[in-house]
Amino acid sequence: MSGDYRALPSVDQVLSGAEGQALVAEHGRAPVLAALRARLDAARAAIRAGADAVELAAGLTPALVADLAQAARSGLRPVLNLSGTVLHTNLGRALLAEAAIAAAVQAMANPLALEFDLGGGSRGQRDDHLRGLLCELTGAEDATVVNNNAGAVLIALNSFAQGREAVVSRGELIEIGGAFRMPDIMARAGAVLREVGTTNRTHPRDYEGALGPQTGVILKVHPSNYRIEGFTAEVPAPALAAIARKAGVPLMNDLGSGSLVDLSRWGLRREPTVAEAVAEGADLVTFSGDKLLGGPQAGFILGRKDLIAQINRNPLKRALRLDKIRIAALEATLRLYRDPDRLAERLPTLRYLARPKPEIAAQAARLAPLVGAKVAAWGYACAACDCESQIGSGALPVDTIPSAGLRLTGPGGDAPDRLSARLRGGAVPVIGHIRDGALVLDLRCLGCDDDLLQALGG
Ligand SMILES: *Cc1c(COP(=O)(O)O)cnc(C)c1O
Repeated sequence: MSGDYRALPSVDQVLSGAEGQALVAEHGRAPVLAALRARLDAARAAIRAGADAVELAAGLTPALVADLAQAARSGLRPVLNLSGTVLHTNLGRALLAEAAIAAAVQAMANPLALEFDLGGGSRGQRDDHLRGLLCELTGAEDATVVNNNAGAVLIALNSFAQGREAVVSRGELIEIGGAFRMPDIMARAGAVLREVGTTNRTHPRDYEGALGPQTGVILKVHPSNYRIEGFTAEVPAPALAAIARKAGVPLMNDLGSGSLVDLSRWGLRREPTVAEAVAEGADLVTFSGDKLLGGPQAGFILGRKDLIAQINRNPLKRALRLDKIRIAALEATLRLYRDPDRLAERLPTLRYLARPKPEIAAQAARLAPLVGAKVAAWGYACAACDCESQIGSGALPVDTIPSAGLRLTGPGGDAPDRLSARLRGGAVPVIGHIRDGALVLDLRCLGCDDDLLQALGG
């Protein structure tokens, strides 16, 4: 049956044809060649197995076009985050303000005075662009910035507790997602973990009893992602600061999310602010750039000048430093905090967090029939529903924010999973969450109705 193979075009015939040329111009020669060879091999195998060669030959170019389009589609393309978690780590956390995006784009495309003092023409420091703003916004004496908050905790522990003890309450030995476990970070920092107190209760005397010449640092950690309730006691930061000061040991407070402003003005529950943590007497305060702050990934360390200088001399600082793009975006983001009245307008993450439920419910009512018409073709029904959003990334871990969305139901126990997979597979993937036998799309983070309708097809 070898004659059948001759119905298939040769590699050269395809590549020199008009469609082949267009594909080469779009994707490059090597990828087209590889995809074409794979298709031809598969076609020959199919012919050997008895398939119709003429039909296979006719389908070759369309299949090639589809293969190359699929391969060219980025796994990093935007998705619609209707998961109900606003700061979703797996979806990239905070969305940047327009000013931050513009600053980042400018930094990407141009040389800039990153480590260059334009006044004197001498060498400057890249952190200088952020230090002044951070101190102004928080009341801290000094500040430094690294790759992320995990890096901030690592370098601070390494700077002050390498070969010495880091004292921490048993109730604060946290694991947060993505393999950040405080005991592991401590081990990598070269610090010896000294646990004090019990899971639910830790007293001043527990800390005092553990302090000695071997102590490098006292660490307080915001228990992101969980809360201990019931018969509990923790030593408040000001009391802990007094204990640390008396012992001559630095107190470090890892806030995790760390907000620069009081969120209660937007109807959210109060998270301790960075300024409060500084005022309470912590010698060092660490927090993330891409959680509540609403900027790019970064880790801030604020605090006493002599301690920040010591961190900046640590060779790990060079390994954990930020690039110009993120420094530019961070500077622009921090600048927005000088005008808190307009923050919610300008910071998309805060805008979504602050969206009032009635506005989201109206959007759900508007979209329910339109989305219903689309999913009916796949055998699903759609209704507006109430739901609860989470902030995410360890901020206000057990609090939820009243929200509204769409509840999609279909026949069969696996209906939500099937629909979830289908929506994830679209050109603009839609990420919801499964609850009580339905796929729920929380509309809190849907800026524009059309975005969802288009993602669902047309
Ligand atoms: C999120 C968090 C971290 C890690 O911060 P990244 O910016 O993700 O590296 C550390 N500590 C606490 C308490 C956190 O919540």
